[in-house]
Amino acid sequence: MDERIAALASEIASADSVVALTGAGVSTASGVPSFRGDGGIWERFDQRDFHFRRFQADPAGFWTDRIDLREAFYGDREIEPNAAHEALVALERAGHLDAILTQNVDGLHQAAGSESVVELHGTNREVECVDCGHREPADPIFERARDGELPPTCPDCSGDLKPAVVLFGESMPDEPTIRAHELAGRSDVFLAIGSSLTVQPAAGLPSRAQRSGATLAVINLEETSVSSRADYDHRADVTEVLPAVVEALE
Ligand SMILES: [Zn+2]
Repeated sequence: MDERIAALASEIASADSVVALTGAGVSTASGVPSFRGDGGIWERFDQRDFHFRRFQADPAGFWTDRIDLREAFYGDREIEPNAAHEALVALERAGHLDAILTQNVDGLHQAAGSESVVELHGTNREVECVDCGHREPADPIFERARDGELPPTCPDCSGDLKPAVVLFGESMPDEPTIRAHELAGRSDVFLAIGSSLTVQPAAGLPSRAQRSGATLAVINLEETSVSSRADYDHRADVTEVLPAVVEALE
């Protein structure tokens, strides 16, 4: 076994608190297309169509484009959790992981069975009412929109429903960011997994953890903004490294 994997596993085993931050690299292995970069969603769609301002000015048009985006995102495939999601579930169940902080909006951590998940950018699995905050599962609402209810509206107050993700130009919700900083600040081991760590608030969390004395492990195919000062810098496939860590802990 890779010695660095064994060393990281032993740090995890002796830590009081381990926190994982996950980004797009954890989802791409499940076939979820990435938004940024070559072949990313934003090469095929205009970001401006999905701005919060656009939603406010033209909610019906926004929803029409959002239906197309969702098709491109998921197509006919059922997106399933992969070995990286499952390894994180195993870590949590074994008492080795306090929380997952995620930049992903696909809900795959919960689908895999993770209990403690902080969604920094919201979730595509739900919609929320912009007036009263009512939330419900997204799938039936997308069905209604496809059937012509544009925009779909809230059953409680008739306000407009929007996907429960943070849109461009929309302010980040405070609560998940505050919780993420708290969890990072009291972690002994902080795992930054499949994220290039370029987008806030995620980008600031490894430093928050390190300032409080945490060991920082980065697992990502490419170099990240914090790789040079990480205690462990695994430039490797997350679906291989994480199961190997779990195995080393057993
Ligand atoms: Zn409402």
